Amino acid sequence: MTLPRLRPDIGSLPAYKAGQRPAERDDLVSYKISSNENPYPPLPSVLAAINRAAQDTHRYPDPFSRRLVSAIAARFDVPEESIALGTGSVAVCGQIIAAAAGPGDEVLYAWRSFEAYPIWTQISGATSVQVPLLPDERHDLEAMLAAITDRTRVIFVCNPNNPTGQVVTTTELIGFLDRVPPDVIVVLDEAYREFMVGEDMPDGMQLFRGYPNLVVLRTFSKAYGLAALRIGFAVAHETVAEALRKTATPFGVSTIAEEAAIASLEAEAELLERVRALVDERQRVWAALRDQGWPVHRTEANFVWLRLNQESLAFTAACEMAGITVRPFAGEGVRITIAETEANDRVIAVAAGFLQQHG
Ligand SMILES: *Cc1c(COP(=O)(O)O)cnc(C)c1O
Repeated sequence: MTLPRLRPDIGSLPAYKAGQRPAERDDLVSYKISSNENPYPPLPSVLAAINRAAQDTHRYPDPFSRRLVSAIAARFDVPEESIALGTGSVAVCGQIIAAAAGPGDEVLYAWRSFEAYPIWTQISGATSVQVPLLPDERHDLEAMLAAITDRTRVIFVCNPNNPTGQVVTTTELIGFLDRVPPDVIVVLDEAYREFMVGEDMPDGMQLFRGYPNLVVLRTFSKAYGLAALRIGFAVAHETVAEALRKTATPFGVSTIAEEAAIASLEAEAELLERVRALVDERQRVWAALRDQGWPVHRTEANFVWLRLNQESLAFTAACEMAGITVRPFAGEGVRITIAETEANDRVIAVAAGFLQQHG
C-alpha cells in the first residue's frame, strides 16, 4: 500500500515528552511534579472571567486579542506594537523560528535546555547547533558566541534554564548581547521569570528596548497558573513582533484564554503571593537536599535539578513508589517541580532514602 509522501526529516522528529501523569492509587494521593505546573487552582476571580468568556464560545475570538495586548502593555510599560501573542510561549518559539530561519540556517542554544527548541528547529528545516552547558549547569556564553556563524539566525537563552534552573545574570547577559551580531535574534525565554529572586537577575522587559534583536518570551502557564489555556507572548522590536503575529495560528488565542490572562494581571498581587510561597518551598527543598549531601545547585525556577546520571530512572521509580511523578532525562538527571507541601515533603523523604540505598 502506498502511503502519502511526508518530508523525510519528519520521521526523525523527536516527540515532545510531556511530563507524565501519576497512576491512580488507592493507598495515597499522587502528585504530578513533572511539568513545572502551578499547584494552586485558579483564583475565583479568574474562574469567573473564564465562565463569562465561555458564553461567547460560538464566536471566534478577537484575532488581535486587543484587550489583552493593551493590558500587557500597561502592566509591563511596553508599546502595544511590541507585543505578539501565541498559544503558549512554546508556540511563540515556533513563530520566531518560522519567521527567521529555514533550510540552511542555524538555530543556536545551550543543551540540555528546553525541548521545544530542537523540535521547532527541525520542523522549520533549519539546523540545530547545541552548545553543552558548563559543568555547573549554566549557559556557556563564551562557547555560544564562538559557535555563531553567518548562518546563525536565532539564539535561545533560557533563563532560568529548563531543566537545570541556573541563570545568566544581567551582567553576563549584557556582555553577551553586546557581542552578538545585531542581525541575529536572541530569544530570552523567561518562562520562570517571576520565580527569580537572586541578585543581578535580568528582566527582559527592561532590556529589550536597548537591543532591537532581543525577543523576550513570557507565559501565563507557570507563575500565573493558566497552563491548560495555552497563552504566552513575546515582547520585541515592533518589526519582529509584527513578523511573529504573521506566523501565529490565526485565532489561536481563545477568548477564554484572553479573559483569564487579563483577570490574572488584575489579580497579580494575589498570584505573586503564591509565587512567593513556592519560592520559600523551593528554598526549603533545596536546603534539605543539600543537608542530605546532594550536589544540588541553587535554582531560580519552580523546580530543582538532580544530576543523577545513570541513576536517573532508578530515582524516578523510587519517586513513583512514593506517589510522586517527576521528570527524568535518562542518563542525565531528574527535574522535580516545587509543588504542594506534601509533595515536596515526599521528595525530601525519597531523596534521603535513595541516598542511603545508593549513596
Ligand atoms: C513551560 C515553558 C514555556 C512555556 O510554555 P507554554 O505553556 O507554552 O507557555 C516556555 N519555555 C520554557 C523554557 C518552559 O519551561
